[in-house]
Amino acid sequence: MVSKARFRGLLFITIYVILVLLPLLIVFVGPNPPRRDFLTEFSVALGFIGLSMIGLQFVITARVVQITSPFGMDVVLQFHRYISLLAVVLILLHPVFVMIADPDNIALLNIFTAPWRARFAVLATVLLLLIVVTSVWRVQVKLKYEPWRTLHSIAAVLVIVFSLAHVYLVAHYLFQPWKQLLWALMFGAVIAVSLYIRLIKPALMLLKPYKLVDVIERDGESVSLVIEPEGHPGIEFRPGQFAWITIGTSPFAMREHPFSFSSSAEEREQMEFTIKKLGDFTKKIDKFTPGERVYLDGPYGVFTPDRYEAPNYVLIAGGIGITPLLSILRTKADRGDKQDITLIYATKNMGGATFKEDLEDLEKRLNLEVVYVLEEPEDDWEGEEGRVDKEILEKYASDTPEETMYFICGPQPMMEAVQEHLEKLGVPREHVQLEQFEIV
Ligand SMILES: Cc1cc2nc3c(=O)[nH]c(=O)nc-3n(C[C@H](O)[C@H](O)[C@H](O)COP(=O)(O)OP(=O)(O)OC[C@H]3O[C@@H](n4cnc5c(N)ncnc54)[C@H](O)[C@@H]3O)c2cc1C
Repeated sequence: MVSKARFRGLLFITIYVILVLLPLLIVFVGPNPPRRDFLTEFSVALGFIGLSMIGLQFVITARVVQITSPFGMDVVLQFHRYISLLAVVLILLHPVFVMIADPDNIALLNIFTAPWRARFAVLATVLLLLIVVTSVWRVQVKLKYEPWRTLHSIAAVLVIVFSLAHVYLVAHYLFQPWKQLLWALMFGAVIAVSLYIRLIKPALMLLKPYKLVDVIERDGESVSLVIEPEGHPGIEFRPGQFAWITIGTSPFAMREHPFSFSSSAEEREQMEFTIKKLGDFTKKIDKFTPGERVYLDGPYGVFTPDRYEAPNYVLIAGGIGITPLLSILRTKADRGDKQDITLIYATKNMGGATFKEDLEDLEKRLNLEVVYVLEEPEDDWEGEEGRVDKEILEKYASDTPEETMYFICGPQPMMEAVQEHLEKLGVPREHVQLEQFEIV
């Protein structure tokens, strides 16, 4: 299964590189105007590559399962972030080289006097820089997630529209009708993906609603939402996966949040998500009452033992990172799996440990050992305390690293530290799977 995923991953990367280079390749087909100086031609090449990279971002972030599944959503979003920065650098170098080639071109920056082809280029670049600043420093500029997302989406579409207007008006390499048509098709594809995300996907979600049937207060300032499909069979997910949830609003509002399933993947009639009350949306999660409509976009994610089968498992949770791991344990119990499993659960204290009773029950149904590591233990605590460090991992998690799969979900610093310790203990990198709850 993994090798099939690797093959698919390799295939997508190859297709991606071909698509990025496509506008450039088209230039070489057919008769062309006389070549200009090297710097000008080089700057056009950079602009074309940068523009197709920006266009492809729409496809990359469209949550197409076939594209995300070989890599995982977090890797895809990470790629989106880094490749955007590279695309922006290429696009910024385009005017820089144009001006180095002929310093008189600086006049094109004056949008009051410049021709429209240059005005569109300037507008697209300014919007691109706005996207970069608000994405990289969103927290520092105190922009909330939802307004940022709306701004990001609108600005990204405008960047494409203005850039294409620039390319069409310059028209240097686009004087043949078939080339104009091909560019129009590429542009159409980007718009089609945007329409799919904004209209078709929410409409499909509207056709498959869920009903909130229970709201359960949990230890650790968390709440479980139990939902049931309404008039359809629901979705099949794998233990450890997640979905984007819309509750209290329409899917067209695009005010959705990602949460891991905390229920068993074998349970199709009802699904549970467990949410820590942390921020703007999650703090009000217990205000929802049974009967409320819920919409799901998912399942997503590759953080699942179904993809990485092994004789033994070590699951390491930090705080609310327990949710996907609980789904893994509940599913394994329902399937009657008999592998050895160790759960190392880092939490503040026993009072704040979500799912204590459920884990006690799971210890009876599975070959499971639960090790709590408490940061601020109660006075009568006799177990492990502090952080999940090398000693704790050596004691509980390093007997047979070659035959063990490690699944870690928790705060970013904890995941990084644990990953480092495991590496020092001889755990192969490909045996460590991570789920990140923090996305931009
Ligand atoms: C794959 C995945 C699985 C997750 N599973 C769980 C889970 O099982 N239980 C749980 O409690 N939490 C989970 N989270 C985290 C949860 O999605 C965020 O805590 C929640 O969206 C924060 O929303 P807020 O408005 O309450 O917080 P805020 O304080 O307003 O935002 C805090 C941060 O959360 C992120 N965030 C905010 N809104 C969104 C959004 N709409 N979409 C994506 N990120 C956003 C932003 O980085 C923001 O800076 C998961 C996250 C991911 C990526």
